[in-house]
Amino acid sequence: MRGRNFRGELDTFLAGREQELIDFRRDLHMHPELAFAEYRTTQRVADRLTAAGLVPSVLPRGTGLICEVGSGDGPTVALRADIDALPVPDEKDVPYSSTVPGVCHACGHDVHTTILVGTALFLAQQAAAGLLPGRVRLIFQPAEELPGGALEVMASGGISGVDRIFGLHCDPRTDVGKVGLKTGPITSACDRVSIRVTGPGGHTARPHLTADLVFALAKILTELPAGLSRRVDPRSSLSLVWGRVEAGSVANAIPDDGVAEGTVRCLDEEAWHAAPDLIKELLDSVAGAYGVEARMDYARGVPPVVNDEVSVQMLTEAAVGVLGEGAPVPTQQSLGGEDFGWYLESIPGAYARLGTRKPGSVHLADIHQGTFDVDETCIGTGVRFLAATALTALWEGRRPSVSEPLVALNLDK
Ligand SMILES: [Zn+2]
Ligand SMILES: [Zn+2]
Repeated sequence: MRGRNFRGELDTFLAGREQELIDFRRDLHMHPELAFAEYRTTQRVADRLTAAGLVPSVLPRGTGLICEVGSGDGPTVALRADIDALPVPDEKDVPYSSTVPGVCHACGHDVHTTILVGTALFLAQQAAAGLLPGRVRLIFQPAEELPGGALEVMASGGISGVDRIFGLHCDPRTDVGKVGLKTGPITSACDRVSIRVTGPGGHTARPHLTADLVFALAKILTELPAGLSRRVDPRSSLSLVWGRVEAGSVANAIPDDGVAEGTVRCLDEEAWHAAPDLIKELLDSVAGAYGVEARMDYARGVPPVVNDEVSVQMLTEAAVGVLGEGAPVPTQQSLGGEDFGWYLESIPGAYARLGTRKPGSVHLADIHQGTFDVDETCIGTGVRFLAATALTALWEGRRPSVSEPLVALNLDK
């Protein structure tokens, strides 16, 4: 069974479905919906899955859905696609441009959604033929861009019972047909910190009789990043960078309050968890030394996505098996955030970059730009890759010994 040639089956499946999937993507692209408002998108996906005999269930807030393929014994592998669009105007001149002013799929989530639909249809065929050695949970997650969608999925039990989870994201810097893989952190944590400093205020002639608030705020601005650099493992790349500071109104009066705001970015999960307490501790010590009061508001963004080694091996095997030896390519960690990191805090898994660039193309719009688009052959690539990943993970998950080396599936290359 393990050596079964599903590369050939995927070819046959896609030969009959690829155009339908491209049309599905274009329809979503023309009707983008913002975070937690993806009602039409949810309905379109639900209708297509239902037509294939699957039984999707919509998340409690009304957008996003979960659908399980297969039943019975064996591991459960989850595949996640995000479905929301961005508040960015569509600047492309194509027949499938956004019909919603100010909103477009500039992050490629329409492509992710379509790939997961295609994968679902293929896996449903496999399950119907009794060829699925476990269960695959398809997670169509709302609100990745807000973020908050991953937490919504988790709060509704979306990953309970799941052994391993995979996701992918369009990458306009990588050629279509290739997939960017990396073990360890691949995106970063990003939080916001806001500090308000207060004191009695007074005349600049007599700073010793009050608290010199502007001076204290300046010390906070420089000492917090400096202190962090000596209290946190430098390999975590924890950085606090200020973006806004405000205090005072005239040259000769010491103000009674001031504000500083910035972001905390971090590549390491442990350091990310420790960051708020550590920043508060440094803040209290600097503020105390200069006699001012300081209050910190710390807003958590997302944790870094940290890819599990075994899961990346599975992605590699799958890519080599169905896309070819040269398909997996190294990719770098970005300082961008991605809420897939929340899943990986609870279960192992990995997140891959899907090449969407037409080879040789000169125009290179980044994600989140109004001109971003993909080479739509990436949809077929994505379906092959995700389906093979799920099957690889199911077969590997059934292995009795985890210490045994992974054996490549005997695919017809
Ligand atoms: Zn995005
Ligand atoms: Zn995205």
